[in-house]
Parts: sequence; structure tokens; C-alpha cells
Amino acid sequence: MAADAFKKPAVDMPKQTPEERVSNFFEVAKGYTVEMAVEEAERCLQCKNPQCRKGCPVGIDIPAFIKLIKEGRYVEAAWKIKETNALPAICGRVCPQENQCQKFCVLGIRGDGISIGRLERFAADYERDHGIEVPELPTDTGRRVAVVGAGPAGLTVAAELRKKGHGVEVFEALHVSGGVLMYGIPEFRLPKAIVQAEVQYIEKLGVQIHLDSMVGKLHTVRELFDGGFEAVFIGSGAGLPNFLHLPGENMSGVYSANEFLIRTNLMKAYRFPEYDTPINIGKSVAVIGGGNVAMDSARCALRLGAEKVYIIYRRGMNELPARHEEVENAEEEGVIFTLLNNPTRFIGDGKGNVRAVELVRMELGEPDASGRRRPEAVPGSEWRLPVDTVVVAIGQSPNPIIQQTTEGLEVTRHGTIITDETTAATQLEGVYAGGDVATGAATVISAMGAGKTAAASIHGYLNKAK
Ligand SMILES: Cc1cc2nc3c(=O)[nH]c(=O)nc-3n(C[C@H](O)[C@H](O)[C@H](O)COP(=O)(O)OP(=O)(O)OC[C@H]3O[C@@H](n4cnc5c(N)ncnc54)[C@H](O)[C@@H]3O)c2cc1C
Repeated sequence: MAADAFKKPAVDMPKQTPEERVSNFFEVAKGYTVEMAVEEAERCLQCKNPQCRKGCPVGIDIPAFIKLIKEGRYVEAAWKIKETNALPAICGRVCPQENQCQKFCVLGIRGDGISIGRLERFAADYERDHGIEVPELPTDTGRRVAVVGAGPAGLTVAAELRKKGHGVEVFEALHVSGGVLMYGIPEFRLPKAIVQAEVQYIEKLGVQIHLDSMVGKLHTVRELFDGGFEAVFIGSGAGLPNFLHLPGENMSGVYSANEFLIRTNLMKAYRFPEYDTPINIGKSVAVIGGGNVAMDSARCALRLGAEKVYIIYRRGMNELPARHEEVENAEEEGVIFTLLNNPTRFIGDGKGNVRAVELVRMELGEPDASGRRRPEAVPGSEWRLPVDTVVVAIGQSPNPIIQQTTEGLEVTRHGTIITDETTAATQLEGVYAGGDVATGAATVISAMGAGKTAAASIHGYLNKAK
């Protein structure tokens, strides 16, 4: 049996063909059927000392939920996951499992590791289709906690503390909850109805979410304490785009990835004229950067009608920081990878519109502090790539509003809030922080992991302060 499991390949997940999907925003991956999920679950060895759990920042009991799928107890499988993860349909879709749980699966040593993310997605989708139930909650403790930001970090803190009986109110700056899951990651990777269903589950737990409520403007952190909250969690993310600071970057047609993705996803430019918020996109688009944000921007640009979309990245294919699956999807869809090139300036038409990007060729030198080989410009190798739209996707930093309005809150020179990693505590009493606002732009599951750490600390803090 065990030897067979090593030989048997993972069950593939059906997806739209590249030709089909490149002109729509429907979800690319279609998910497992019941039969596919059971077949994949049957490959799991149910290890006595499961390595996969070591790779999960929120500690899901992976073998237990896979066993439930194998036994046909799909809704119970979802409940098992939800014991430690309130957003399973989201994590099953966007977590980099290849670098986390799945990386540690022993089957991966000689064959395909178990497709843990696909099974997680299956269980969560099955439960949602059959009616989500809320677990029994302990009696209210009467303690109140404020959470700033309804992204994965804030939502996790909120769900965890509600499950301990505390009153939780979330303050979200935007008109909708979900953070990057709503405004950044496109519909074809993460349908927004699924994000909202998971948000509704958290609301059903009794979490109150105040939308259009920017902390730092409407209330300060101090005022939240004055209003009766006993602890505050800051999960305000990293929503401020980084720029290249190159000549011509302020021309029309040059977008930050934040603006481009917000206009496309949150304001639904792709559904113009049903939504009266179109986005101007030319025939030829250059996306600067090599992470998930760059891949999402490039794939959105194709779907919005661009004929040629280039990824411009200063290192090579092996160094691309985006998830492997997303790079593969982008390649299949026809995105052109212009690697080992770096922009030096943007060139306009004399009327303020971008018309080309000047690039310099790069070579990889010795490894730098990050362990990756340092890209070095080849002198005199500049060339011009004609484009009419540019999307700059080179990273994000935290928005400084909370840091600027909260006296005594310590921040790094990058604007991230300084916390104790093991507790998520800031140096201000009762104030905790986690997710991208503390680490800089990272991943959904790391933000949720920080949320869990913070919730445990806040629970301990409230109990101590009784
Ligand atoms: C385009 C894109 C694609 C990505 N793809 C992936 C992926 O495939 N897999 C993956 O794991 N990660 C991915 N990431 C990263 C991941 O989405 C983030 O790491 C994660 O969302 C961080 O969660 P967070 O809760 O810390 O912050 P956010 O998701 O940014 O949420 C913060 C929330 O706080 C709100 N807020 C900000 N300031 C205030 C304020 N003053 N008052 C009230 N509310 C405020 C914001 O509006 C937002 O809703 C991607 C990121 C982007 C931008």
C-alpha cells in the first residue's frame, strides 16, 4: 500500500484552457469533484508523526481532515480545518502550499506530495454548498477588543477571540471586508463571493464589522481604548505602493499595481459598462516586477484586452518570487517574460503619455544578503520596448496613518510596526499588531498565523487583567 502511494501521481485539478480563460475573469481552477477528492485523500499515508503539520502556520490537523474526506465525511472535514483556520476556502486557493505543508509531505520525497491545498479547498467549498454551520460559542466574557483592518490578519484575530467568548469589533477603512483578498487578488484566482462567504461566517460568529471606518481618521487607537475596548489589534496591511523613482514615472499610462488592481478588481473595471468604472489599457503593457502582484497584473491586463503583456524582471526565471503555479498559468496564457532586464526611464509622446520603457540588460553576479545572485547592469546595453501602459509591481509598504497617530508606537525605517514575534505585542500596553503591517508584504497564511498568535496573547492579557 505504502509503496503504491509513492508511485501514484497526485490527482490533477481541472482548469479552464488558456484559450478559454484569457478572455474571461471566471475562476481558472475548477476544483476537485467528490471522486477526485476521495482518490487524492486515499493517497495520504496518515503518518503517525505528520511532517505536513510543521509547515502550516495555523496548525491545521491535516491528516485528520484528509481522513474525513477519505471516509466521505466532507462537512466534518471542513469543521476540522475550521478548528484552527477560519478562512479555508481562501487558503485552499491562494496559499503557497508548495513552500509550506505540502513541502514536508513524505510522499514528496519520491513522488508527488499530497495536494493538501486542493483538498482543503474541496472541503470548504463542499461545506459552503451544503450550508455553513456556526460552532457553539462559550458564554460572553463581556470583554471588548477592537481590530483594525478586515484582512486575513484582522479576521483571524476576530474569529479566534469570538470563539473564546470576547466581544470583537472590526474597523475597516474600505466599503468591503477582505483586504487584499478583495481589492488585490483577481476574481479568476479567488472569486469574491467566496471571500464574502468566509467573512459572513466570521460575522455569524458574532463579530461586528464597521465598514468605511478608517482608524487614525475616524478614531485613533487611543480613542478606541477611551471608548471601552481593552485591547487593540492592528492588522492594517501594506497597502502603500512602492515606486521606482525613475524619470517619466508620473506620465499618464503608468500605474502602480495597487491602483491597477483596485480599479480592475474592487471597482470591477472588467465589467464595464455594467460598472461605470473603466480602466484605460493599451495594446502593449509592461509589468515591472516578478512576484504574485506582477503575475496578477499581467494576467488582468491580458483579460482586459491587451495584445502583448511583458513581465520585466531584473533576475532570471529561477529567481521569480511569484508562486510557481501562477508563473506557469501566466506563461500558458501568453505573458512574455522579459527577464534579466531593468527599467531605467519611461519615454513619452511629448503630450504626457507613456510610449516606451527604456531597459538595461542585467547579469547575475555574486549572491547578495538575501542569498539570491545580485543583478548587475551590463553597461551600454540599454534598449527600448514600445508600450502604452506600464504597471509598477515592485512591492508595497504599510500606510503610515496609524503609526503617525499613535503616540509611542515603534516602527522600523520601512514603516512596519515593531512587535515581539512570539506574542505579536507592540511595546504599547494592550496594543498588538500582525500581518503585512508588521512583516511587510508577505502571505495570507503568515498574516493568519500572526493573527492566531495575537489572539492567544490578547486572550491571556484579558484574563490577566481581570
Ligand atoms: C495582488 C496581490 C496578490 C497576492 N497573492 C497572494 C497569494 O497568491 N498568496 C498569498 O499567500 N499571498 C498573496 N498576497 C499577499 C497577501 O494577500 C497579504 O500578505 C495578506 O493579505 C496580508 O494580510 P493583512 O491582513 O496583513 O493585510 P491586508 O490584506 O492588506 O488587509 C488590511 C486591511 O486593513 C485595512 N486598513 C488599512 N488601514 C486601515 C485603517 N487605518 N483603518 C481601518 N482599516 C485599515 C485595509 O483596507 C485592508 O482591508 C498577494 C498580495 C497582493 C497585493
